[in-house]
Amino acid sequence: MSKVQLASGPGPRGNPSRHPSSRGKHFLSDKVERFTESVIREMTRQAMLYGAVNLAQGFPDFSAPAEVKIAAQQAVAGDVNQYAITWGAKNLRNAIARQMGVWQGLTLDPEKEITVCCGSTEAMISTLLAVSNAGDEVIVFEPFYENYGPDAVLSGARPRFVKLRPPKDNGGEWTFDEKELRRAFDKHTKAIILNTPNNPTGKVFTRAELELIRDLCLEFDVLAITDEIYEHILYDGTEHISMAALDGMRERTVTINGMSKTYSVTGWRVGWAVAPEKITNAIRKVHDFLTVGAPAPLQEAGAAALGLSPEYYAKLAEGYRARRDHLMPALTAAGFKCFRPRGAYYVMTDISAFGFKDDVSFAKHLVRDIGVATVPGSSFYNDPRDGAQQVRFAFCKKPETLDEAARRLTRLRRH
Ligand code: GLN
Repeated sequence: MSKVQLASGPGPRGNPSRHPSSRGKHFLSDKVERFTESVIREMTRQAMLYGAVNLAQGFPDFSAPAEVKIAAQQAVAGDVNQYAITWGAKNLRNAIARQMGVWQGLTLDPEKEITVCCGSTEAMISTLLAVSNAGDEVIVFEPFYENYGPDAVLSGARPRFVKLRPPKDNGGEWTFDEKELRRAFDKHTKAIILNTPNNPTGKVFTRAELELIRDLCLEFDVLAITDEIYEHILYDGTEHISMAALDGMRERTVTINGMSKTYSVTGWRVGWAVAPEKITNAIRKVHDFLTVGAPAPLQEAGAAALGLSPEYYAKLAEGYRARRDHLMPALTAAGFKCFRPRGAYYVMTDISAFGFKDDVSFAKHLVRDIGVATVPGSSFYNDPRDGAQQVRFAFCKKPETLDEAARRLTRLRRH
């Protein structure tokens, strides 16, 4: 399935058009040859094909908050239907600046430090395109959200992976080796991508871990690009800390976030990048020529969403805690070893009990024969062998959806 080929790859050379099977290949970009389509999105298509319960792609199957939907309807009815300012509607940028002040104690200039994009996905690739030069390296913790690989390839940067190691016991945490992280930093390092709360592991980076990463960024003059899209989805008393809020990091951090996960509107495609003025100017240029802007009426709804009361966020996290604690026992009973997430809405599992040669054949069996779609672990690793005994479940679903998945999973056989 999807893999980024990080070596220079086979690339079309010679005269491929003479070979019937590669006719037309010479029209394609070498970069595009170095990765395949997203496995996460492919698994949603497979779920639809086989009528499986979709616990693969991370999108809610329940309603977005009524106030947020009404705000979007009112914006459309009120004729907010032409382009917003390319770097984002003023109301939304003001709301983002205000809330980053409330949540992280950061003082932002919404005129100079925020770019609204088509989802945090676009915010990430616009950022990488805005900062990367040929030969630059970008450090990525692994397992990683699969977009970061192709994002790096498309922007010409070379990813360098640092392992997150799974907990040994049930209540433990994913950890990284300090020495391995230090070894990944050198004179070619441009940036480190950090996703906390983390997809797919559910790890929430602690202050001590963030400070360690901060110290390396300062020592090696490296930028931090942080994907904080699961900021409000936290369990077991964990705390989300923005890298930008740490001493010394304000000037070297791009903070990426969006509406998708916090307000259950993944299809709206409204996200943003927050960065110091010079970096923001570069991101804005890339963003403008890539997409011009995110949907204008949905940005107005975003301004309303960011004004929801603190109870909304508490309920959101509690709802996901209940879903986690609903799905995990069912997975354990079916034979999965679960790595308990502390944030975000995925659970990574170990599938060794089922005796399959790899995650892809297991995921195929699950979606076709059992009727549950998951994401094969290998799509979160550079070397597919590292994820060959893992699959990821998304639990951002209604209780009845989780019950149906649990019922189907009882048909799984262990070996
Ligand atoms: N973040 C979600 C996931 O990992 C999906 C995001 C997307 O498909 N754009 O499943």
